[in-house]
Amino acid sequence: MKFLDTKEQLLSLIEEIFINILPQYLPSSEIREQQINMAKQILLSFIENKKIVVEAPTGIGKSLAYLVPAVVYLKELQKNTRIIVSTYTKTLQQQLQKKDLPLIEKIVDYLYKDKIWYTTFFGSENYICLFKFYELKKDLLTQDEILKIINIENWLKTTQTGCVEEIEVEQDFWHEINRESDLCRAKHCKFYSECFYYKNLKQLKNMDIIIINHHLFFANILALNNLVPKRNKETEEIIIFDEAHNLENVIYQWFGEEISNNQIKFLCKQVYNIKKQRGLVTKLHSLPENLKQNIIDSVISVLEQTEEFFAQINLKLLQAKPEVRIFVPNIVENTLIPELSKLFNLLSSAKNLVSKREEVFKLTVFTKRIVKFIKIIAMWLKCEDTKNYIYWVEKEETKRKKLKIILRITPIDLTKEMQEYVYSVYDKIVFTSATLCVNYDFKFFKSSVGLFPEIIPNSTTSNELILSSSFDYKNNVVIYLPEGVPNPKHEYEEFKEVIIDIIEKLIKLTEGNTFVLFTSFELMNWVVEHFKLDYKLFVQTTSKYKLLEQYKKTENSVLFGVNTFWQGVDIPGEKLISIIIPKLPFDVPDHPIIEAKTEKIESEGKDSFKEYLLPNAILKLKQGFGRLIRRKTDWGIISILDPRITTQWYGKYFLKSLPECKITTDFNTLKDFFYTKKGYKK
Ligand code: SF4
Repeated sequence: MKFLDTKEQLLSLIEEIFINILPQYLPSSEIREQQINMAKQILLSFIENKKIVVEAPTGIGKSLAYLVPAVVYLKELQKNTRIIVSTYTKTLQQQLQKKDLPLIEKIVDYLYKDKIWYTTFFGSENYICLFKFYELKKDLLTQDEILKIINIENWLKTTQTGCVEEIEVEQDFWHEINRESDLCRAKHCKFYSECFYYKNLKQLKNMDIIIINHHLFFANILALNNLVPKRNKETEEIIIFDEAHNLENVIYQWFGEEISNNQIKFLCKQVYNIKKQRGLVTKLHSLPENLKQNIIDSVISVLEQTEEFFAQINLKLLQAKPEVRIFVPNIVENTLIPELSKLFNLLSSAKNLVSKREEVFKLTVFTKRIVKFIKIIAMWLKCEDTKNYIYWVEKEETKRKKLKIILRITPIDLTKEMQEYVYSVYDKIVFTSATLCVNYDFKFFKSSVGLFPEIIPNSTTSNELILSSSFDYKNNVVIYLPEGVPNPKHEYEEFKEVIIDIIEKLIKLTEGNTFVLFTSFELMNWVVEHFKLDYKLFVQTTSKYKLLEQYKKTENSVLFGVNTFWQGVDIPGEKLISIIIPKLPFDVPDHPIIEAKTEKIESEGKDSFKEYLLPNAILKLKQGFGRLIRRKTDWGIISILDPRITTQWYGKYFLKSLPECKITTDFNTLKDFFYTKKGYKK
């Protein structure tokens, strides 16, 4: 193929790929104007050296719409290009790796008789550390652990990647054998040449396309690009953020600081595991016995104080809510830092007495970790800069039903950091998702990821594109807005009593096959308790994945979910034909991050409801709505029970943001629609 250089020729090539080449390898593919348009606009943005934000509704084939122009750019304009596709979910990573990229490979072969190299790369903690594994094997193990070791050994005989993705393993056990970046001795490790992580890393150098997740992207940025190495210094990187609506949460995590009770306990366990009587200290044979014993005693004290310190926090702050912001210093007594300091001193003394390099190395790592813990706890307790940072605490239940308490320090505004670390570094960035704009405007999304307002000159120049859906919503979706429901803000108890009847009526109509999407566990649990019909209910308690699998396998089932079920769920066909939304999805305004953001907006003289809470809720409703129609042939009902959608001034903005479909307040109209679609006699 002759290399093309004019813009027009390149744009024609994009058309040629979608119209004539792709169907040869994907006979089921259709020619979709929006997909071709998206691909062309992305290519133009690359040529103009600009970022682009694209709202691409479900069903237009957005993965190929960004992969094709990226590859055309690489092959035609800049051979030394690396394409990084960053996603939020593993499901999308798998789809790209197994479905979309093999197609791209065929297209490249057809056009250029050439290869395109691609892979998925995970954060390093997802890879086994052979050093840790064989160290553990030497320890005194329980029967259960021996079985787990055998399982891993069998897996090691066949695995090519050494990645946890491939194997069922308990999380706690995995943490005993996975790679920890600070404990990795890299070239000085005796397993370096066989190390799965480094083998994968070496392969990356030659890759044209690397799929990662948003967390790894930011870990890489903050590690000064050391985690995903470039091919060479001149390599130009194109970044594609798919599922970009989830970027904001990830950004907050990476630019903040946090420390949890579990992290401290894990460190203690690595120094000395009381239950199993093993750990680093038992292997330091050159240490005097009394120092060893002092370290063990100190570990016990740190563990006791960790319990005590976090219990105080739990009791004082977390009884009413799972997340609480703090404003005053020394909210609890500082009993933990002195114990951590003692352990630090003892490990430092041990470091001066051991001679083996490996022992010195491990002791150095653990002392550094303790210094970091002390620093974060001290900063959190001091609570000094409440103008620029949110000091808060959050509790969650682990899979083993244990309480995890996390102290967090989060910057209120990350605009400058994002422009400095990301937007000034990369010119060509694609942000895409099905839900990025509110009322045909990207301002809300852009400010959430620091693309607006511009602080560093020329760092945020970007194009925008909003694509319409190729689905026939008008004929396939009815939005049901029942009348006579009390306002949940003013008459909450009455609201609950009314909606339970409507929910039951709707579930009866569609014979299950329904998602009921809540905004709080409290309301969900109340509805579950009062639900009288005999349908198989799946209620969000266990993992999302398991619950979805059970829901899909069970006839006439109903799923009750909060938060995570509003997005990233793909159930095409008649297994999901009804979505019930009891309350408009406004964020809880007293969540620490929401509270700090709204305060900041108010302090700038703006209306935080209009500027933040409303657009956020609109995007969430769009995400919930998006669960219903996944394929062209899908149809269904969306019932929004919250009366504010019709009675309040802002209600129209919610409706305007949804695709145009039939709206009814009449249950019989809904029934007619359902019967017609099902082919039932009326
Ligand atoms: S090189 Fe690092 S990750 Fe690999 S086996 Fe050695 S210590 Fe573990």
